[in-house]
Formats: sequence, C-alpha cells, structure tokens
Amino acid sequence: MDPVCCHLVRGLPAIEEGDDLAAMVRERFPVQDGDVVCIASTVVSKAEGRARELEGYSPSARAEEIAGKLEKDPRFVEAVLEEAAEVLLDDPFLLVATKFGHIGVNAGIDRSNVSQGRILLLPVDPGASAERIRCGLGKECAVIVTDTCGRPFRCGVAGVAIGWAGVAPLRDWRGERDLEGRELEITLEAIADEIAGMANLLMGEGGDGTPAVVLRGLSLPKAGGRLFRPRELDVIRACLSSRDRRH
Ligand code: GDP
Ligand code: MN
Ligand code: MN
Repeated sequence: MDPVCCHLVRGLPAIEEGDDLAAMVRERFPVQDGDVVCIASTVVSKAEGRARELEGYSPSARAEEIAGKLEKDPRFVEAVLEEAAEVLLDDPFLLVATKFGHIGVNAGIDRSNVSQGRILLLPVDPGASAERIRCGLGKECAVIVTDTCGRPFRCGVAGVAIGWAGVAPLRDWRGERDLEGRELEITLEAIADEIAGMANLLMGEGGDGTPAVVLRGLSLPKAGGRLFRPRELDVIRACLSSRDRRH
C-alpha cells in the first residue's frame, strides 16, 4: 500500500464572498487525481456569502422564549430557527436538523473566525458546494466539506463531513470476511467522517488560517450513500421527539 500523506494548504487569505476556493487551493497546492481535498465549511460559507449581521434578524415570539431560557441573544436564536427544518432540543441547548439533513447544535452557525456582530451560516447545500469545488479543481479528486461538531455520548468536538463529492461517504464492508472467515453483515464505515476528523485535527480551531487539507494515497470507493441517517431509522431522534411531546 502507498503511504498516506496529509498536506496543509498554506497561505490562504481571509476568504471573502465570491472567492473561487478551488482556484485559490489550486494556486497553492498541486492537487492530483485521487487526492481528497478537505475544506472547512467556514470558508465555504464565507465564499458563498453566508455571513449575516445579527442586527438583520427580527426574533419571533418562539425565538424570544427560547433565548430567555438559554440566556442567548434572541437574534441568534432566530437565525438558528430560520436555518432549521426541525428542532430536536431547545433546552439546555438548541439542537436542530438543518434543511440539508445535518443535525447540529445551533444549526452549525459560527461566531468564531467571523468579524464582530456577524454570524456565519452553514452553506445552503454543502454537497453541492463540494461538487462545485471539485469541478473547479479539475481533477478526479474527492472533496469533503468539514465542520467541527460536538457528539452525543462523547466529550469534545471533532470534525465531521457535512458535504462530499467524488467519494462515497460510507464504505460497505458487508460481505467481506473477518480474521476468522466470518462474513460481516452490517458494517458501514463512515469514511468521510474519519477523513474529516483527521483534516480537522490539522486545520485547528483558532487563528491558524489553514482551512484546507489534502490527503493523498487513500484508496476510496467513489460514489453512493449518505451520512445523514433517514429520520425513520433514527431511534435516538425518535426518543428526542417523544421527549418533546411529553413537555
Ligand atoms: P469550521 O470547523 O468549519 O467551523 O472552521 P473553523 O472556524 O474551526 O476554522 C477552521 C480553520 O480555518 C482554522 O485553521 C481557521 O483559522 C481557518 N479559517 C477560518 N476562516 C478563514 C479564512 O477566512 N481564511 C483562512 N485562510 N483561514 C480561515
Ligand atoms: Mn463550524
Ligand atoms: Mn473547526
């Protein structure tokens, strides 16, 4: 097996609306066929003009109520509600399903690495963003849009994939054999999340200014599958919904 290498793309500037991220990465790193290019959702959002002034939001009564409970800015809560397809928890934090299917605290809206008084919404459709960046890179590569997220059951945040193109986010091990020759029956491995975790580790969370990481030497399945669990198969989500009804 070839060695697997990770490269941080250095020297990217502050990203502005309208910037061509693919061109900016290409200018700084010779992306090749087979590479996996990971880009932080933060910069995808900036390039796609997803920064908003908090002042632009007029909180609904529901936003005011939740904001009171959480001791948050009602305009921020309003922004989260506007990005949400469904609210799963509104106490002790706001956990929502976004319109594109990702479930995250505060709809993944960030206040770090954005200027004062502004917030940054996640891309409207990170899968489509990944596909556009892949086209712009002009190689047979994969693109993964990452975000740093908290996880249920585990402490600490980690990088996950919220959009992908040119790669299957899940590797299907079903039908393969284990060491004892037994057939694997259920294992779907979330490879795009595993890669996003590694990329996120290299990017850092602060002022490093390194939102792009290229992995080389991985052999990955090319297409198919989704990381967002269908609602009807999600028992934890069902528990949260029934908890909500009890209130
Ligand atoms: P998120 O995980 O997608 O929410 O992104 P983070 O805010 O954690 O940032 C990930 C990486 O991107 C960090 O190294 C940040 O310093 C970097 N970053 C964020 N915004 C910019 C930007 O506009 N330009 C550059 N060059 N880096 C940025
Ligand atoms: Mn984020
Ligand atoms: Mn991050």
